Amino acid sequence: MEGLDMAEQQWVTEFAEHGASSEFDYNELDQKAGDGDFGTNLALGGRGVRARLARGGERPFTSLSRVFLDDIGGSSGPLFGLLFSNIERATAEELSARTLAEGARAGRDAIVRVGHAQLGDKTMVDSLTPIVEALEKARTSSTREALNAAAEAGRAGAEKTRKYRARRGRASYVGERAVGAIDPGALAIARFFAIGAAVFSRPTQVTIS
Ligand code: ADP
Ligand code: MG
Repeated sequence: MEGLDMAEQQWVTEFAEHGASSEFDYNELDQKAGDGDFGTNLALGGRGVRARLARGGERPFTSLSRVFLDDIGGSSGPLFGLLFSNIERATAEELSARTLAEGARAGRDAIVRVGHAQLGDKTMVDSLTPIVEALEKARTSSTREALNAAAEAGRAGAEKTRKYRARRGRASYVGERAVGAIDPGALAIARFFAIGAAVFSRPTQVTIS
């Protein structure tokens, strides 16, 4: 496997592990801000991606997007699937700062078209929007620099959701009770880019093929 393919494999593997092992923490957040099932949805996704990666025969981004689009419920499954499938499509020829920016932009716009969330509605859009802006600003930088900027923007965007009252998804039913709690979907998207940044920031490993 070449270096970039290895990085994609590592990125998707580590995100799948993160989802599979964080069910309790994300459910706890969704209990404060929503109906308490987000962690279960993400964990099902993580385990599904892990199994599909083990079968192989396709790009890791394909495994990631197919599992979330086809198998995972809630609001988050299909919406995450839209982000991942747009990243998959945009990076088909090469994985770079520019193609990641294009894919994340297309994914964000698709999520907004389908889910109608605006900034400040306490959703994944609140971390994904600053992530896209950071990636676009860094489109001529290295992938590592772009992902580091995206990770920082996502962290700040997710943090801001504490202040908001949820207006979308089932979290909208809990009203003021969710103020103070971070939105789990916004956090998971921020984690996805933070994991990518960590993978690309590691010294290249020497592999024997
Ligand atoms: P549900 O809200 O149906 O229980 P999940 O628990 O699977 O869905 O996912 C909740 C997450 O999905 C929220 O934390 C939020 O980030 C995101 N979300 C919910 N509705 C929308 C929407 N309309 N647009 C964008 N993101 C949304
Ligand atoms: Mg939920």
